[in-house]
Amino acid sequence: MNPNPELVDHNKQFQKQVIELAPDVYGAVGFAASNVYMLIGDEGLIIIDTTETTRAAENIRAEFRKISDKPVHTIIYTHSHRDHISGATVFAEGGSPEIIASDNFESDLVNVDPKHPTPGKVLMARTKRQFGMGLSFPEERVNIGLGPGDRPMEGMGAGFIAPTLSIAESRSTIARCGLSLELVKAPGETPDHLVVWLADKKVLFCGDNFYCSFPNLYAIRGTPYRDFTTWADSLDLLLEFNASVLAAGHTMPVIGADKIKEVLTDYRDAINHVVAKTVEGMNQQLGPDELAYTVSLPPSLAAKPHLKEFYGKVSWAVRAYFAGTLGWFDGNPTNLMRLSPAESAERTILLAGGVDALLKTLQQAAADEDHQWVLELSDHFIAANQKTDEAKTLKVASLRVLADREINATGRNYYLLSAREIEESIS
Ligand SMILES: [Zn+2]
Repeated sequence: MNPNPELVDHNKQFQKQVIELAPDVYGAVGFAASNVYMLIGDEGLIIIDTTETTRAAENIRAEFRKISDKPVHTIIYTHSHRDHISGATVFAEGGSPEIIASDNFESDLVNVDPKHPTPGKVLMARTKRQFGMGLSFPEERVNIGLGPGDRPMEGMGAGFIAPTLSIAESRSTIARCGLSLELVKAPGETPDHLVVWLADKKVLFCGDNFYCSFPNLYAIRGTPYRDFTTWADSLDLLLEFNASVLAAGHTMPVIGADKIKEVLTDYRDAINHVVAKTVEGMNQQLGPDELAYTVSLPPSLAAKPHLKEFYGKVSWAVRAYFAGTLGWFDGNPTNLMRLSPAESAERTILLAGGVDALLKTLQQAAADEDHQWVLELSDHFIAANQKTDEAKTLKVASLRVLADREINATGRNYYLLSAREIEESIS
């Protein structure tokens, strides 16, 4: 394997370390998919987010315990994604800390439970591919786009504690352990985002409304529509704080008011640009297949490290915006009642001069390293159930080459785990 060097370089965002962000404010980066923050108050600790596994939470707690032995008084969830809520029992240490979240907090745990009725099963299968679960490290799974490739998996989802205090107000201030915290609803990557503003030290805990990647406006594991404009508006809200430290749910903290202003403004502008250009194309009656190729970030934004497509991807965001606002129909009447994939494939094979002729074309595409074309041609054989082993073998090889070219970690992982699954299905 020869992974995309930019994706390998992105590993610098997840070097395992505890960072002092301000006096008595610490962040644990690189221990898990998500970061954990500790605020040391008079008589206790406030923990913000808890990771996806109890093992990762234990590792972080051990580091935090080198700094403070005060009991955990309060845990705050920035949102309900399982990589932020699954280590709470570890930080509770057998006690009963209060657990704060937004009143529209909805646990993601149920949705990925494979025993849950559909779509839980498919969501779990696709989640495994997106995060490359079962791939080797570091050869195959370089990282997961917003977290390290070698995080512990023991106790996945096991340490969740339900919120004990639900925040209903859009902005409210609480006092805990001698600290004053402003809690602000800021819907973005999820509708239930609750960001935390430590005004005394000018530290803003923004959850997943910012991390060092183009925002994940659509996750290929499958997600409901994430409201683009709402996310952009929340970035305007975050800009108002004029923070000195931006402590994100993933990747390294951003330090300095000017830098924070730059990254949040770029993030907002990138989302708004994708919306504007996609809407413009939609109004010209272009479909998602065309728009995915025509909408891109302006070069000034595309070059920014915090907008590289390590986790989110512009073309997938464009498709998501189309589907989220107009639904699945691209407007072309041909697509109202398409032939079944099997029938379309059989007719394409006939058109190509028969199965042996199309196989020669497929082999030539592989020899020419025309890998996307290999995928598309091989799917005809698979759909028509003809020469499937030959087609699958070539498809697997091309998936692995495309994975190495990909800067997007979720795309790389999805290609590689799919390749393994297809390989295992070859008779
Ligand atoms: Zn997250």
